Amino acid sequence: MPEKASPTSLKIPALSGTATVARVNNPIFIADLHLTGRKKKTLLAFWWFLRSRALQYDELFILGDFFEYWIGDDASKPAEPIARWLRAYAARGKRVYLMQGNRDFLLGEDFARHCGGTLLKPQVVIETPKTRILLSHGDEWCTLDTDYQAFRARMRDPEFQREGLAMSVAERIEYAKKARAASLENKTQKTAQMMDVVAEAFVADCRKYGVDQVIHGHTHRAAVHRADGCTRTVIPDWDMQGKGPRHRGWVELNSCGLPQIVLTDRWV
Ligand code: MN
Repeated sequence: MPEKASPTSLKIPALSGTATVARVNNPIFIADLHLTGRKKKTLLAFWWFLRSRALQYDELFILGDFFEYWIGDDASKPAEPIARWLRAYAARGKRVYLMQGNRDFLLGEDFARHCGGTLLKPQVVIETPKTRILLSHGDEWCTLDTDYQAFRARMRDPEFQREGLAMSVAERIEYAKKARAASLENKTQKTAQMMDVVAEAFVADCRKYGVDQVIHGHTHRAAVHRADGCTRTVIPDWDMQGKGPRHRGWVELNSCGLPQIVLTDRWV
């Protein structure tokens, strides 16, 4: 169903978002849910999460690849139920923040607002009562994968996005399918190490922002890594479909304000 985008009505996602976050007290961090209509069980798990576990926190941070793909806020109709769930969560006095990942880099301020939330810039420092933490999707630190970094730079280029969003929704779907196929083909030639975060890269950003704690997603390898006095905590991805091992999880802060991973294969 072709639908013509009006290029001027959408703010360019690469130029959107805020880096300013009011002090957070009791945050929870999730990423890489890769939500799509095809993964009903993962969707259901998220729906339940917002009505159960997430209510124990005051600020929900969704750090990228929330959606399996995102071709623009003007094509957000399939995600309407998810926006409604998030609005209901926000209506309980919770703050919701969304960050773009490499799958949903076209996620914009309109949709974030529609969810009762706020779109963040790709790198944001938050202040908790005891710590300062750098938040990111994390893919910018996979610097060994030079092909991917070139692809990333192109996808996040404002001019490229402007042209992309001027295409019809049908054309964008076609484009995304091709890009996805090409990326899958490339991936088979890459080692896991090549696609992981490089310590020097994330440490350099820690120095830049004057922090020693980082929380990010992207790699789907929930773990805590230390390098040169800096710690990065990787958020678990979600997959409740049951083909592989079922899993989901999040990162929360312990009583010292330090990030810790919670992993579960349970629904509740
Ligand atoms: Mn990712």
